[in-house]
Amino acid sequence: MERRSRARVAVIGAGPAGLCAARHILSRPETFDPPVVYEMTDHFGGTWFYEEQVGPHDNVYPIHSSMYRDLRTNLPKEVMMFPEFPFDDHLPSFMHHTSVQLYLEKYCERHDITRHIKFNTAVEKVKPVSMETKTGGAVTWEVISHRTCGDRNTQTFDSVFVCNGHYSDPHLPYIPGIEHFEGKVLHSHSYRYPEPFANKSVVVLGARASGVDISIELAQVNARVILSHSTPTMSLPLPLGIQQATSVVGVSENGSLQFQDGSVTRADILLFCTGYNFNFPFLCPSELGLDIQALFVTPLYKYLLPPGFPSMFFIGICKIICPFIHFDCQVQFALAVLDGTVKLPTQAEMEKEVQREMQKKLDAGVQVKHLLHLDKDQWDYYLDLARVARFTPPQPVFRSLYEEVGRQRKKDPQKYRQINYRLIDATQWELSEASPEK
Ligand code: FAD
Repeated sequence: MERRSRARVAVIGAGPAGLCAARHILSRPETFDPPVVYEMTDHFGGTWFYEEQVGPHDNVYPIHSSMYRDLRTNLPKEVMMFPEFPFDDHLPSFMHHTSVQLYLEKYCERHDITRHIKFNTAVEKVKPVSMETKTGGAVTWEVISHRTCGDRNTQTFDSVFVCNGHYSDPHLPYIPGIEHFEGKVLHSHSYRYPEPFANKSVVVLGARASGVDISIELAQVNARVILSHSTPTMSLPLPLGIQQATSVVGVSENGSLQFQDGSVTRADILLFCTGYNFNFPFLCPSELGLDIQALFVTPLYKYLLPPGFPSMFFIGICKIICPFIHFDCQVQFALAVLDGTVKLPTQAEMEKEVQREMQKKLDAGVQVKHLLHLDKDQWDYYLDLARVARFTPPQPVFRSLYEEVGRQRKKDPQKYRQINYRLIDATQWELSEASPEK
């Protein structure tokens, strides 16, 4: 910030997080140059750009999105929106995914973002480059990218926003004896629609959002579904055709699946709905002082920045959140760090704070793979970011509606999406009439 009057920011990825970063950077032309948004595909939207294809895309870039054909959102539009940019009134609360992509198109138009996106340009390497200095000085970042046509390019920035998403690289827990399984093995990343599963026996591993939703889709085409997860005793009210079972612990030599409670079954298909790995192939973790594991990244101060490199920001690393609201708060905090509004503690103090927070969670019995899950803690987190960075925090109504939807989902994972809501004001919501999606 000392070297130039305006800071140059690179944004990696044009999904919702990257678009949100671009929107806020563009709104402060006195402080920031227009961002360079790198996007490896030929479109924006990230997860919300549905592609039926599952293999490599013309051998040009891997399929990024894990979206399936009939997906309806699992959050209502009233809490899915970016604050101050509501979805269209005519939409039902739980929309088809195409409505979210349309919403992002409008967001880009409203904030004139698209012309700042370098499509078909994958970031290949991001390197901190030390500048001078005797006083500790600032770091600049070298971003090396390549276009699908093969051209390589290097540009230098004052800050990098990492917005490459984390629902793309399948996480496949090892199952002893899996090589004996004679059926088909798939991950939800490659699931698009249920028809090919009709009348088949399918064991679905994992009962988070995708595991439950996909099981319901499969049951509708008469697949015989066993939903295997760690807490089948807390049975979810699921439709006929879905049986719940304990975790799969192995595959025997004759190809049958063995469950934790000792039962066994044969199946045509084993479908892993076991989540996704963090993957930042363009970073060198040790150079940044980061430990990047499949399901965990640390230390990130405020779940956002490596303490040794406070001009790099990881937007949207956390899980079990309201993503768009979350991105909006994190981006505003990050920009307040860059413009000097937020005075960060020293590197050692930030590292200590992260360590303390993580240890507190571990002591409370949280597994390492869940350390970045926020859920009910997200609201205090947003208040904290807003207080320190001096922006308006999300209205309390978002929290109260998010919690209500959580209760309804638990009560009936099949029907909760039939309910429609309406925000009344900053603190209240009400039920509303259903309106058919156009
Ligand atoms: P992404 O949307 O994944 O976008 C990342 C972008 O970065 C992509 O465009 C990608 O091409 C680009 N990129 C990656 N690597 C590079 C590189 N090296 N160089 C250049 N570009 C790169 N959220 C909700 O709020 N409601 C829901 O109902 C909901 N349902 C979901 C259902 C499914 C099946 C999945 C997988 C996710 C769902 N989510 C939902 C979460 C969803 O991922 C977030 O809403 C949001 O899309 C995350 O945005 P992002 O920008 O962080 O990542």
